[in-house]
Amino acid sequence: MTAIMSKRETIVIADDDPTIRKVMTAALEKGGFHVVDVDNGARACAAFAEHDPAIVLLDVEMPVQDGFSACKQIRRLPGGGNVPVVMVTGRDDIEAVHEAYQVGATDFIAKPINWPIFGHRVQYILRASHDYQELRRSETKNKVLLDALPDAFFVLAADDKVKDFMPGKFEHPLPEPAQGSTTVFDFLPTEVAREWRKARRLVTSIGRPTRIEFAIACSQHKNCHYEARFVPYIDSRTLVLVSEITERKLAEQRIRRLAFFDNLTGLPNRQAFRLQLSGMLDEAEDEGNQVAVLYIDLDNFKRINDTLGHTIGDGVLNAIAERLSSSIRIRNDAKISEDFPVGVARLGGDEFACAIAGFNDPNVLSAIAQRIGDQLRKPVPFEGHEFVVTPSIGVSIYPDDGDNVEDLLKNADVAMYQAKDAGRDSVRFYSGTMSVRSLHGLALEHDLRKAIENEELELHYQPKLELRTGELAGVEALARWRKEDGENVPPSKFIPIAEESGLIVPLGDWVLRTACKQAHDWQQRYNRGPRIAVNISSQQFYQSDLRQTIMKALFEAGAKPSLLQLELTESILMRDVEKTIATLEYLKNTGITLAIDDFGTGYSSLSYLKRFPIDALKIDRSFVMDVEASNDGATICAAIIAMAHQLGLTVIAEGVETAEQAAFLQSQDCDQVQGYLFSKPISAADYEERFLKVSPATYSLDSVG
Ligand code: C2E
Ligand code: MG
Ligand code: MG
Repeated sequence: MTAIMSKRETIVIADDDPTIRKVMTAALEKGGFHVVDVDNGARACAAFAEHDPAIVLLDVEMPVQDGFSACKQIRRLPGGGNVPVVMVTGRDDIEAVHEAYQVGATDFIAKPINWPIFGHRVQYILRASHDYQELRRSETKNKVLLDALPDAFFVLAADDKVKDFMPGKFEHPLPEPAQGSTTVFDFLPTEVAREWRKARRLVTSIGRPTRIEFAIACSQHKNCHYEARFVPYIDSRTLVLVSEITERKLAEQRIRRLAFFDNLTGLPNRQAFRLQLSGMLDEAEDEGNQVAVLYIDLDNFKRINDTLGHTIGDGVLNAIAERLSSSIRIRNDAKISEDFPVGVARLGGDEFACAIAGFNDPNVLSAIAQRIGDQLRKPVPFEGHEFVVTPSIGVSIYPDDGDNVEDLLKNADVAMYQAKDAGRDSVRFYSGTMSVRSLHGLALEHDLRKAIENEELELHYQPKLELRTGELAGVEALARWRKEDGENVPPSKFIPIAEESGLIVPLGDWVLRTACKQAHDWQQRYNRGPRIAVNISSQQFYQSDLRQTIMKALFEAGAKPSLLQLELTESILMRDVEKTIATLEYLKNTGITLAIDDFGTGYSSLSYLKRFPIDALKIDRSFVMDVEASNDGATICAAIIAMAHQLGLTVIAEGVETAEQAAFLQSQDCDQVQGYLFSKPISAADYEERFLKVSPATYSLDSVG
């Protein structure tokens, strides 16, 4: 503003007539101008350069340099391009006017000058010039803005012809219309062009903006996404502003994936499964078909996860997911139509589900479930180990077992629990009576929690015999649970529940404390208390501070560590090897002895055991059982005994039930036996009666059994 004011102050006038100059000066000074007057064109140019005036008035006919020539020259001077130059001409013919514009004059004033309005005229010319320059400035601004916008612009006529176009700054540019009369159908894919036409028609008819999204293939596998806003424009035309939204679309897809797919396995998640199943039910209702829901839970998976760590657990889940997907999609069953709809999902943790429609015979379902079982049961190789995972499968069928997603899932879940109850690795179809049994399972967990809290469990003791001397080698403490109503719940039922619910940790603590007290008590009273072996679950080993728990149990009971033996599972040894060795070494140094339980059923080899500070090895009952039945059983047992002895380990055979088994084990130089042949697990009182209160302290197998 100040710049304009200072310019306004100065005006250069050039006229060779001193009278005119005088009158002009007087008129302009009255209008607030500062006037510089000269008498020819050359001086006018010099004055312009010197005073930087807001406006220049030039007489046309002047000596030395005329007005036209001066105007031309001023236009070339710095700052001369935009200054208003007014020609004052006596020649009001059209020729002179034309020439004035040719040389770049802004306006002209004809002589004789109309003095009363002269000052105002100059003011108007000046203001018009300012307005013009403002306009130019804002036009430049608009152009910069347009250039900066990433959008593409199209102006469409009512016949869908492109009247104007500016390409956007896109990462994946749109196809461009050719010059001339091109319609949207000439450069856009037909489908997209149709949508454009629809949107354009809508905008033309309702007179309000609308927007559409469209996609154009930008490579073989990739679509690029755009958003187009259609806005009513002049002359019933439509302005189309297009922006690229590929990135946003990809982000949306990623979010969708997160919301509907399981991150680990890439399978649909529970949410997605519900939607898919719901769609399948709608279709089945229309067509009067059946839909089966298979609820699949991996047996003992928690054990792999807890003992071997999540990396291995995740690897196994991935392998299982893949097998599940492929086994459900094999369609070589003659009874299943080529394209029956299926869905596979991971519901969470180690739970999976399948939905199957289009089968026409319930036997087909058994066959599919069987196939899933067969596929999943195959050992999963992972990082040098092999894992065997078995599934428990529950099946519910629409419409018999439920007519909606929730009921079908719930009932398949109930059936799955029954499969688990029935010993796992099996398939169960839902039937109304099952819900009672599975509720029973839940109640059992609740009761077990209470039983542990109220110390309602009991320990029984099963003696082990030294085969060479006939002396007692110690006892194994085994948990027993007799419910308030008198029902005996076997460990095969409540130990898995304890493991899956985490109750195994407090249960194990109680067993340790009780066993230590018992050992000390017997030692005190009979001076020949047996060494008590306690089973340690892998969860207990890793989830609580085992060293502290054990030392505290021994200390509080006042028992010597040598009275305690720990029975460890092979899976404990397979987790964090360094840490496990450190813990075992610490325990062993206190005088506690360590045994590996159920040897042969797990994953490890004898040479692997060499790394751990172990004292004894218990051959699993399944091998002992086989000793008579098959040559293989005998060979395996003999080999385990020989190799264990080479490693300096004491060998204990579990589950010895017959004299023949005992004789064979004796012939192979097995160290100790435990089993019904010698004694079943018995209560502490019975043990006292039979083994402590009486002498002698040596036995033969058949004398007691
Ligand atoms: P285990 O540690 O292998 O214990 C030996 C199992 O074999 C016991 O079953 C025992 O009663 C049974 N048994 C012993 N001799 C014979 C025989 O001659 N024939 C047959 N058929 N069976 C025999 P039980 O008491 O039912 O325990 C089963 C499993 O439950 C145990 O197997 C152990 O893994 C677990 N368990 C029991 N008590 C505890 C405990 O306090 N803590 C933990 N963590 N696990 C326990
Ligand atoms: Mg045991
Ligand atoms: Mg055992």
